[in-house]
Formats: sequence, C-alpha cells, structure tokens
Amino acid sequence: MIDLHTHSAYSDGTQTPLELMTEAAQVGITVLGLTDHDTIAGYEDAKAAAEATGVGLVTGIEISTRFKGRVVHLLGYLFDHTRAIAEHCTRVRKARVERLRDMVDVMERDGLITWEEVQQVAGTDATLGRPHIADALLQRGTITHRDEAFTTYLSPSSPYYRSYWAPTLQESIKLIHDAGGVAVWAHPRAAARGGMHDWQAIREGIALGIDGLEVDHRDNPVADRAKLASMVSELGLVRTGSSDYHGSGKHNQLGEHNTSPHMLERIAHQATMEVYRP
Ligand code: AMP
Ligand code: FE
Ligand code: FE
Ligand code: ZN
Repeated sequence: MIDLHTHSAYSDGTQTPLELMTEAAQVGITVLGLTDHDTIAGYEDAKAAAEATGVGLVTGIEISTRFKGRVVHLLGYLFDHTRAIAEHCTRVRKARVERLRDMVDVMERDGLITWEEVQQVAGTDATLGRPHIADALLQRGTITHRDEAFTTYLSPSSPYYRSYWAPTLQESIKLIHDAGGVAVWAHPRAAARGGMHDWQAIREGIALGIDGLEVDHRDNPVADRAKLASMVSELGLVRTGSSDYHGSGKHNQLGEHNTSPHMLERIAHQATMEVYRP
C-alpha cells in the first residue's frame, strides 16, 4: 500500500517520523510520502526511520499557496533539496511565526493562552500553524479535540484569526519543477480553506503546470471524485490517493486512501530524485 500524504511533528502531525513510519509498517504501507507543511526538515529523520522500518520514503512537501483569492495546498514530490526550496521554507516559517504570534497576543489578552504554551506544545522545529494553538488549548483543557478549536477560536470568522503570506500557486509549481519535482494539487475539492474551487478554477490551475490531482482524499466530496478522475484521464495527469494523516491531530487514518504502484512509477519517472528504498 502506498500513502503519499502524511504529516509529522515537523509540522502539525503528532508523531516523530520514526513513530509515523513504524505505524506505517504495521498497517502494511510499503511506501510513504512525508509531506510536512512548508518544510523538509523531517527528511533526515525519515530516512533513518526508513532504514529502521523497511518502509520506502518519498521526499515531499505541502506548500500553502494562493490562487484566485483562495488557498491551494500543493504537494511537491521527489524534488532536489535546492537552495530555492530552503529559502522558501525559511521565508514561510518567518511569516507563519509572526502570524501565530499576532493571533496568540490577542488571545493572551483575553486570558485564553500564552505564547510560551504554544511554543511548548509545538517544539522548536515545527512549521507553526493554527493546530499548535489548538494543542495548547487542548493541554489547558479548554477543548477536547483540535476540531473544536477550528470551529471556534481558530475559524476564519473568529476575531483571533489572521492570515499569513503565501506564494502564488504559479510560483510554487515553478519552485517544485525547478527542483526537478512533481506538483500535485492536494484535495482539490476540499471546502474548508476559504471555500471550494469551482471546476473552471481547477482547470485554470491545472493549466499553470499541475502534474497530478489528489483524487482520493476524505476532504473531496465523494460525488466529486469521479469527475476529478475523469479530468485526470482527459488531461493525462497523475492520480493520487492519500490519507493526509496527522497522527492524533485529525481523524484521518493512515492508508485510508492510497496511490497505485503504476502512478508512483509515473511520479518517479518524471522526477529527478528517486524513491528512498532501504
Ligand atoms: P494554518 O495553515 O495555520 O492556517 O492551519 C491550517 C492547518 O490546520 C492545516 O494544515 C490542517 O491540517 C489543520 N486543520 C484544519 N482544520 C482542522 C481540524 N478541523 N482539525 C484539525 N486540524 C485541522
Ligand atoms: Fe495540516
Ligand atoms: Fe492540506
Ligand atoms: Zn496535508
């Protein structure tokens, strides 16, 4: 089984790469894609975990991008870790820290949470995001699951919400391609991130150079998956399916959707970097 979209504690997952890949081996995953938000910092740990568990590793990233006034999550696969990728990660990290600080400052004034608490749950290496505020609220006992914070304190309509700088979809596709990677549009029909993209917008986005669509993902409404699949065939794209596992941070279960060996072969063929097979 191949699962190409997962998160570790280097972003908003709750497990180390070793814990993640140990669980992957247990559920029968043979190749895992580690796609932390805007960071590749987990790759070295993941390589060591691949050695320890025997699970193959696809180096990846999930970049938050802007497109037509909405957020698009772009998955990059099997790219070289170029200076441009590193610069992207550094720039976004700074923007995300400042943004989270702004949110926490106001929440702190209202007695909800402190910056120290957020830093403590996030650790020093993670790409910071709203899930870390949720975890701090969880630790205080204010809420009982991350979910709860996303419909209240952290929702885009909350007074505490702030947005942050993100590159455009076009720039991000170029970043991945320049590094020799493959660019896949994550959960294209997900509704949660500033609203769903309509079909015309998806076609326009694909025309910017997208190589594949994540068809099988719990956030794509079931009724839309056949249409996404027919777009993939019509346009000769790569089709992926994945869990978007975040450990205990989300309900998604490792391997709940997967990618065919044939599609992974196509990704690997198109990319410069190879799958790391221990
Ligand atoms: P941010 O990029 O900081 O605005 O936060 C978005 C992140 O929150 C995404 O990476 C999601 O994985 C996570 N997220 C969104 N909704 C939920 C939810 N209901 N429960 C847990 N995590 C969520
Ligand atoms: Fe996430
Ligand atoms: Fe995503
Ligand atoms: Zn994800």
